[in-house]
Amino acid sequence: MSPSPRKILVTSALPYANGHIHLGHLVEYLQTDIWVRYQKLAGNRCIYLCADDTHGTAIMIRARQEGRSEEALIAAMQAAHIRDFAGFQIEFDHYGSTHSPANRALCAEIWAALRKAGMIAEREVTQLYDPVAGTFLADRFVKGTCPKCKSPDQYGDSCEKCNSTYSPADLIDPVSTLSGAKPELRSALHLFVNTEQMHGFLDEWTQQGDHLHPDVAKWLAAAFLAEPLRDWDVSRPAPYFGFEIPDAPGHYWYVWFDAPIGYLAASKEWCDKHGEDFDSWWRNDETDVHHFIGKDITYFHTLFWPVMLKASGFNLPRMVHIHGFLTVDGQKMSKSKGTFVRAATYLEHLDPAYLRYYYASKLTPKLDDLDMNLDEFVNKINSDLVGKVVNLASRTAGFAANTGLAAEYPDDGGLFAIASKAGDDIAAAYEACDYNRAMRQIMALADRANKYVETGEPWNLRKQPGKEAELQAVCTVALNLFRQLAVYLAPVLPQLAKQAGELLGKPIERWDEAQTPLVGTRVGKFAHMLQRVEKGQVEAMIEASRESAPGGDATASAGAAPVDGPEPLAAEPLVESIITIDDFTKVDLRVARILEAEEVPKAKKLLRLTLSLGGDVRKNVFAGIKEAYKPEQLVGRLVICVANLQPRQMQFGTSEGMVLASGTGGQEVFLLAPDSGAKPGQRVH
Ligand SMILES: [Zn+2]
Repeated sequence: MSPSPRKILVTSALPYANGHIHLGHLVEYLQTDIWVRYQKLAGNRCIYLCADDTHGTAIMIRARQEGRSEEALIAAMQAAHIRDFAGFQIEFDHYGSTHSPANRALCAEIWAALRKAGMIAEREVTQLYDPVAGTFLADRFVKGTCPKCKSPDQYGDSCEKCNSTYSPADLIDPVSTLSGAKPELRSALHLFVNTEQMHGFLDEWTQQGDHLHPDVAKWLAAAFLAEPLRDWDVSRPAPYFGFEIPDAPGHYWYVWFDAPIGYLAASKEWCDKHGEDFDSWWRNDETDVHHFIGKDITYFHTLFWPVMLKASGFNLPRMVHIHGFLTVDGQKMSKSKGTFVRAATYLEHLDPAYLRYYYASKLTPKLDDLDMNLDEFVNKINSDLVGKVVNLASRTAGFAANTGLAAEYPDDGGLFAIASKAGDDIAAAYEACDYNRAMRQIMALADRANKYVETGEPWNLRKQPGKEAELQAVCTVALNLFRQLAVYLAPVLPQLAKQAGELLGKPIERWDEAQTPLVGTRVGKFAHMLQRVEKGQVEAMIEASRESAPGGDATASAGAAPVDGPEPLAAEPLVESIITIDDFTKVDLRVARILEAEEVPKAKKLLRLTLSLGGDVRKNVFAGIKEAYKPEQLVGRLVICVANLQPRQMQFGTSEGMVLASGTGGQEVFLLAPDSGAKPGQRVH
């Protein structure tokens, strides 16, 4: 711990407004939140800022496809992000948006500084243009045949088959994924930042002063800094969802220009709200700025961003902390396997404390990917948190409920002193983002404490008359050792720390509370702190993620926008007669879960489904979906059913309803499903 309070400004990368938060994102937000909570507990002045990243072609196109304004789209997504973060106890001091007046003003300020330094260049750029959609096409919106290996259906920047990279203009038979049109080459004026002017500064900043992990510094030196730096293209011509450049009408700042400035804007908004001086946070040698990011956006944060800050006189980052990606059971997160788990889906099944602890136990300062092994996840929670930590309190608190803690701290053979001494090492591990080390040290202390309780056998002392004082002593030691662990775990498990404070009548507010034992206080009633986790809960979460994956999950993908052809409407034209809302409400549409699905012998197209509408309400339904779905794919998933359809006597039995699907029939049948979170029996309005 440092002797005098430091002033620390911390950010996580801004989540993009095109998708929901998932377990992969949470690696970073939990890593940062734990670090910030540690700093605050240690007595440092620390603020944690973040915002939604809202601009760019992807948002513009998606809003167009959904028939709403970009503002409506980003507002809805921001609300969802904030809800997910709060669910995981990620506590920002301020959460803003890059689409804000503060961000616009700061973009203009940095732009003016770059202009003044003579760092802005202009030239024509030739790019593929979609004449139907009326927009230039980013690489990921173009597909075609790879010019090298001739594989069809490859994206505009690289080939998934042969891994070669190229310009989208080199693709054979390119097609716009926005409209299906054949793109044409057009040129437009673009504005560039000449980063080469700052080459000397970047050499020094990246290679000296411990701002980056040594591996990152080496990579930058070899991959970028060994040669003259290329100009950075920071503008896009209209139409573009973003901020128009004040001295270049019709041109917008590229989303990657204004996104990191969102860190400054969020700080500005927080300062204005709390009467703080913005410059004392961003133009002050005594403030340390720490960015937490994923390895995929390293060069934006370690080359362009320092240049922008340097040119405009803001603090440079004290450190950029970079983490790897999440894999699940050793593989990339996958929608079809159900391992692409949204934050909201996780929270429907599991306690956020589990993930906070599990990630902490795996995180190091290195850039390695973090693997979430689902069996290990279950074992770690049960053996470490429930078996070692909570167990200390659950096995002793009841015996001390009448007496409270002893008035003097008993002889514990040096256990408390050893654990308080370990506090400095654990603090250093948190400071270095080596949470894996911190958790191992904490669990070693927990092992010692449990051994003490086993030897002390309070459950036997309790039965022996005359052993009351000894029982109180054993419980006083055990509960103090528990409280020490709760202090050390507080950055990771804020809820547990709060419960420990309530149990022992003194809230945990500072790191150094682990240095002094509590004596003479009352002991409250032991309330459940953490439940064991069952493998079945994890399996249910994976299953729920699998069923929400196809079709309806457009938001989880930041990939290419789909092309919607006119064929479905041509096949089934819109119905011309208008119905009233009363007509509509005559149809009782309900969410239902498929409990059973089986083939009907001799029926070529039918499956027999048993639907649950919640409680013990069941419906037997025959559905013509046999060619499109196998029975085992259906069991457990949610569908929408017409609940008040006239029952129909069929050759095989009575059909008591209907499940909704689209498509032309045969294999082209697509069942409707609600988003995850919907419950059987809910009415569809
Ligand atoms: Zn290829």
